[in-house]
Amino acid sequence: MEKLLNELSSQCKPAYSVKCDVEINAEIPENLKRKSNLGLPNVAENDLLRHFTNLSRRNYALSTVFYPLGSCTMKYNPLINERIAKIDAFNDIHPYQPVESMQGVLEIVYELEKDLCEIVGMDSFSLQQAAGAHGEFAGLLVIAKYFKSIKQKRTKIIVPDSAHGTNPASITFAGFEIVPLKSEADGSISLEKLKEVLIPEVAAMMLTVPNTLGVFEKNITEISKLVHDNGSLLYYDGANLNAVMGIVRPGDMGFDVMHINLHKTFSTPHGGGGPGSGPIGVKSFLGSFLPVPRIEKRKNKYVLNYRKSKSIGKMKAFFGNFSVILKAYVYVKALGGKGLKNVSKQAVLNANYMLAKFKDKINVPAGSRCMHEFVLSPKAILENDVRTLDVAKRLLDYGYYAPTVYFPLIVDEAIMIEPTETESKDTLDKFIDVVNKIILEEAIEDPQKLKNAPVNTPVTRLNEVEAARKPILKWQ
Ligand SMILES: *Cc1c(COP(=O)(O)O)cnc(C)c1O
Repeated sequence: MEKLLNELSSQCKPAYSVKCDVEINAEIPENLKRKSNLGLPNVAENDLLRHFTNLSRRNYALSTVFYPLGSCTMKYNPLINERIAKIDAFNDIHPYQPVESMQGVLEIVYELEKDLCEIVGMDSFSLQQAAGAHGEFAGLLVIAKYFKSIKQKRTKIIVPDSAHGTNPASITFAGFEIVPLKSEADGSISLEKLKEVLIPEVAAMMLTVPNTLGVFEKNITEISKLVHDNGSLLYYDGANLNAVMGIVRPGDMGFDVMHINLHKTFSTPHGGGGPGSGPIGVKSFLGSFLPVPRIEKRKNKYVLNYRKSKSIGKMKAFFGNFSVILKAYVYVKALGGKGLKNVSKQAVLNANYMLAKFKDKINVPAGSRCMHEFVLSPKAILENDVRTLDVAKRLLDYGYYAPTVYFPLIVDEAIMIEPTETESKDTLDKFIDVVNKIILEEAIEDPQKLKNAPVNTPVTRLNEVEAARKPILKWQ
């Protein structure tokens, strides 16, 4: 045995040489050593396995339930993407490795930048940002630096009141002032109201197309002209790109800067807050302001260029969330141009199918047609103090993840539904029946049932106010 061990250890590389327990024990300082027994329970392997498997089943996941979460695009995430993202050749790379030894990784980032330019009609992309909000922040920093470079003092950004909350937050974070713009009932922009707020200090206007009520901005060409005639830039919040991919391009509509939420439009499951990726795209006159390093191709080799004097600097360590970038790359290459166009067509078809089934029964403030999502306002039907929140909680009892509620803020008792392209008619029909049953029958006949919901979940109704004000963050 001794001979064998000696032989084996002589084969080991120094970094992997095995130390015996006694040696390790001697190296640990006394004050760090455990004084009491570890006290682990004796658990049979089967019991342990069942414990963790049962816990994992308490999660809502796209692999088990329908996620009609408006504004979030919880679509099908091909398992092949996950498999590719787990390949050792990608995972074992160290970001400080010499660039010559990670040409493949750089090629993927470089290629995806090019593909995104083509898809949205921009000239350059940076894939560093970790989320949509992070992309907004980076895009606004680019805008700030641009105006500084041409020596214009512009301090304000226009944002419609139907925008996602991250828009005003990013504006403030980037050091600008918010100029709110009241949108019409369907979330669209009134040219007259826009003219009133387009003052010389306006650096840019942020716009979500289609907007958060699922309506395409019909005046986009006029808006673009008005904004540019004022010397301001136009920013595209690309979270809803899933509705228009392959059909229209923000770059062609007149947008100068934009972000894409890779985790919404190009797969990657992002429930629970991450990981995400918020690439920003710009027109050529803004390219030199993008974050460093820029990946450049020189004589068939990819290099990292940090020497960009006008750059806003670094937004995130290394290459951003590479696994999300990789999954988006696989998704884009696998579907191709035609496939991506079909994604949008099917997403819009699915949403309109659902909307058509609801519109005669439940109020839809934005009208009877939509893009990839729509918003119900059941206020007129709900009585007995029943609210949208109760409808959402009751949906959990039926095994559904609840849709987005109380957003956008401009709709009373909003329920925002986005089916995505990857759900079957059967799934949509079942969900429509359940929503109708809850709002049109249960809410009226047995309101207490909704007030008590959910009752079938591991935890029942939480006191959300108290949970936010006095969170108990300790176990036991
Ligand atoms: C999701 C979303 C954002 C923010 O994106 P995150 O990746 O969550 O930071 C911004 N705008 C709209 C319209 C969104 O739906």
